[in-house]
Amino acid sequence: MEISREVFWNIEYGLLVYVGLLLPLLIGYAIYRRYSLWQLGKAEDRFEQGRIKAFITEAIGILLHKRLLGIGPLPVSPRELYAGAMHFLIFWGIVLLLVVTALVAVHDHVVKFMHGTPYLVISFLGELGGILALAGIIMAGVRRYVQRPDKLDSKLDDAVTLVLLFLLIVTGFVLEALRISATVPTPEWERWSFIGFGIASVLGMEKVSLLPWHKGVWWFHVIIFYGAAIYFCLSWSKLFHIIISPVNIFFRSLRPKGALVPIEGIEEAESFGAEGIKDFTWKQLLDLDACSNCGRCQDNCPAYLSGKPLSPKKLIQDMKISMEAAGNVHEEEPRALIGEVIPDDDIWSCTTCRACQEVCPVYVEHIDKIIEMRRNLTLTQSRMPEALEAMVGNLFSRGHPWTGAQFIRLRGDWMEGLDLNMLGEKKEIDTLFWVGCTGALADRNAEVTRSLARILKSAGVEFAVIGAEEPCCGDPSRRIGFEILFHEQVQQNIETFRKNNVKRIITACPHCFNTIKNEYPQYGGEFEVLHHTQVLADLLRNGKLKTGGGGEFKRITYHDPCYLGRHNNIYSEPRYVLDRLALPDVIEMSRFGRHARCCGGGGGRIWMEEPVGTKINRMRTDDAIETGAELVITACPFCLQMFEEGIGAKGPDNTALTALDIVEVVEKGLA
Ligand code: SF4
Ligand code: SF4
Repeated sequence: MEISREVFWNIEYGLLVYVGLLLPLLIGYAIYRRYSLWQLGKAEDRFEQGRIKAFITEAIGILLHKRLLGIGPLPVSPRELYAGAMHFLIFWGIVLLLVVTALVAVHDHVVKFMHGTPYLVISFLGELGGILALAGIIMAGVRRYVQRPDKLDSKLDDAVTLVLLFLLIVTGFVLEALRISATVPTPEWERWSFIGFGIASVLGMEKVSLLPWHKGVWWFHVIIFYGAAIYFCLSWSKLFHIIISPVNIFFRSLRPKGALVPIEGIEEAESFGAEGIKDFTWKQLLDLDACSNCGRCQDNCPAYLSGKPLSPKKLIQDMKISMEAAGNVHEEEPRALIGEVIPDDDIWSCTTCRACQEVCPVYVEHIDKIIEMRRNLTLTQSRMPEALEAMVGNLFSRGHPWTGAQFIRLRGDWMEGLDLNMLGEKKEIDTLFWVGCTGALADRNAEVTRSLARILKSAGVEFAVIGAEEPCCGDPSRRIGFEILFHEQVQQNIETFRKNNVKRIITACPHCFNTIKNEYPQYGGEFEVLHHTQVLADLLRNGKLKTGGGGEFKRITYHDPCYLGRHNNIYSEPRYVLDRLALPDVIEMSRFGRHARCCGGGGGRIWMEEPVGTKINRMRTDDAIETGAELVITACPFCLQMFEEGIGAKGPDNTALTALDIVEVVEKGLA
């Protein structure tokens, strides 16, 4: 018998299945309906050059499931690995099945090529695809309905999708088995269809009596396939993320990760930010449909994990409901987005740590949306937490965000006895040491500032400071949505830098670093901006700093500040610096690097009360204590304050942990 088979063997009117050629029309219609929802949003240019290349580079990682499987620099927990493997199996299983089905159609209508070895290989791949997909579907069922992780909220669509896919695969195998069983004589090479052959062996070979069963199951299989396709299209099932996710990834932000988008025409604007769903851009609305509700963002959000009302997943899903309501002309008065759909507390709970975005497999951009709502609250509705009102008041009256009598001191007090160059005094000095409000005013942080100034001087770095006149960089106002003030601050600072011929800026604050490096260019302020961890690493590499001591601590750990790590990819420099000192190896916390838990101080949160849930900084302090370290090192003034508070709250009887900035550790370790 020839190694091949007739496509519609034992089936009359089999050609009816080609009604399936109309399916793209149905899929197109479903996408068009959603497209009209995305069009409710405002215009946004996401068609810059370089997008195709960026997508192709990313596509390889996506096909390999790099983010989901933790391949590369972003390791995943065993639980996430299970979910990643599950998705990998379903995805590649279904891809193989679709390819095999398409090849069968080509063989039937275009060119007869399925004979001999090609037929056997295609049969094998079909079986492999089926078994991979089936394993993934069973894993998904176990995860969703037996393990029930907190991050998954199961809806009817999830169950229907899994059942339909399960039935499709199982009936496919049964069909295969019935065909093999009823073929007389059964050829040996049918073993290549290994699952079908295995089931057929149980049913018995050369059983002509199974022919009617084969016919019945064939039609049942076809009906399930079309039923599933119609259901997926008309209900906009979550399975559509197969199509929308790549589109969303194609249009993902190519901005520097830490940069927020400025408000267009801010001087003439009458309302600001996003009050309703239509105030977001089309891309921000596309995000809502791309979200597969996987919960990875929620699982990594420090606000959610510490018991705050914010869940980034829920925020996206709730916004999606608002978008659908806004697109439904029959809907009565839609609920207000801010306050009703998304409570104010959710909006203010975010630390802008970026943990959500870093793990989202489809690149949903949560922070921009939250900031748009903050902009509306602060600038249009004049509604913000009392502590932030005080902070904004300080920015206007004192020029810095800190409240309290101890902060009335002069910003230049930290310089006493250091004999530093003042900006503008010596024309040839084009390096500015930007201190930042916290580094200049908070006692503990001023020690770090003095330490860095001493090290730079000892290494022969020529730099100048602004001193008492140094203003705020604008990060606090921008992160809380007070964009009007940021707009003024950034322009004044750029003018000062230009007037004084500043080319290079060194800072110890990742928030200042991020804003000046990534956001000032939006206003034409292009400078070389370096964080002190980068400078220290360079000085050690070039032999300008010689290490000697520093070994008083037996166990140390390092905390990655969000605005240094996730927002700016600076992970290796601080570790290199610590490696060069006479210190024990860094013991990493359970959440480190890209997965590091936020200290709780970003996004304006350092100025706010935290009455709900556990304090985030105390959770992070516990992470450090868990390592058994005596010293937690960080590289950010906010993180240092947050650790000091966390350690203080534990009390000396419960922990011997000390917190230092990396520059203090370096100073102790110099020869
Ligand atoms: S940025 Fe951080 S705090 Fe805000 S939603 Fe994302 S993970 Fe949560
Ligand atoms: S936003 Fe991203 S990470 Fe969060 S649930 Fe949706 S797809 Fe998952």
